[in-house]
Amino acid sequence: MNDLLCDSIVAIDRVTRRFGATAALDRVSLGVPRGSVFGLVGENGAGKTTLIKHVMGLFKPQEGSVRVFGLDPVADPVGVLARVGYLSEDRDLPEWMRIWELLRYLRPFYPTWDDSLAEELLVRFELDVNAQIKTLSQGQRARTALLSALAYRPELLVLDEPSTGLDPIVRRDILTAIIRTIADEGRTVLFSSHLLEEVERVSDRVAMMSQGRIVLDGPLDEIKESHRRVTLRFDEPQSISPYPSFRFEGNGDGREWTGVYDGSIEILAERVGSLGGRIVSANPISLDEIFVARVERSKADRLSAKKETSLDREL
Ligand code: ATP
Repeated sequence: MNDLLCDSIVAIDRVTRRFGATAALDRVSLGVPRGSVFGLVGENGAGKTTLIKHVMGLFKPQEGSVRVFGLDPVADPVGVLARVGYLSEDRDLPEWMRIWELLRYLRPFYPTWDDSLAEELLVRFELDVNAQIKTLSQGQRARTALLSALAYRPELLVLDEPSTGLDPIVRRDILTAIIRTIADEGRTVLFSSHLLEEVERVSDRVAMMSQGRIVLDGPLDEIKESHRRVTLRFDEPQSISPYPSFRFEGNGDGREWTGVYDGSIEILAERVGSLGGRIVSANPISLDEIFVARVERSKADRLSAKKETSLDREL
């Protein structure tokens, strides 16, 4: 296990999970540092929920290991779950209960349950304690589930797509405030989302997933700092990409190429210079653009690795 994993509240080490022929997780390693807001982003089916279910001990790794507070969540659910607030993807709640009954039911499980916080959240989320859960709208259900995960002030809050079902105001103001408050109190948040703008607003650290793999993981500011949309111009037309591993695309007659680049600008300048070209611009881009570029790059790499393997087999 590397140093980052050793210091982490959640340490996922080379975890693999297959469903039939699908590798939902393919040797995934991640560390969630204490006190951080960790955003997990990925396209539909990338493996985010599967990863979160491993953190919650709902799946046992087929390969690799998961530790939460240094404990195995499958072997020691009591030691782990009392310290974790969890908002599941499907917001499962007992349909027949009223909200006050749900809160009364949950309270004894958690020594850290905070009545005044529960009251405050009821008001903030505009929930009626007498409402029956089966009559709640999708948004009210999402807020009730979130309240239930927050009211015992968990050390670790795990949210699977917390924005689903929430209107833009709750999403932007309340959810953001809650997530930041938790981190400011030294607690930790791990959340999944496909809303890159939201992830960019609240996260300290981001991991991007595609097809069961982590394609990028790091502090948000470093990720944003290192990626640039670069435009290159050449005196002579270039028939192939000047730097294939970064997937530059040519426009027009092959004299101008653009792409998302996260390597050293000096190295790029040298390489482009040797081909008779220069860097025209290197501009910062949004997390959304970084995500698209990294996922495309990862898919292209996997495709060419596959082609090479089948070529090897044919030879
Ligand atoms: P989304 O954003 O759509 O919720 P996700 O990133 O959370 O996607 P997962 O739900 O973890 O993705 O699914 C990852 C892959 O594993 C998908 O191909 C999915 O079809 C498959 N998968 C997940 N759970 C099961 C299951 N219980 N049985 C079979 N396949 C599954």
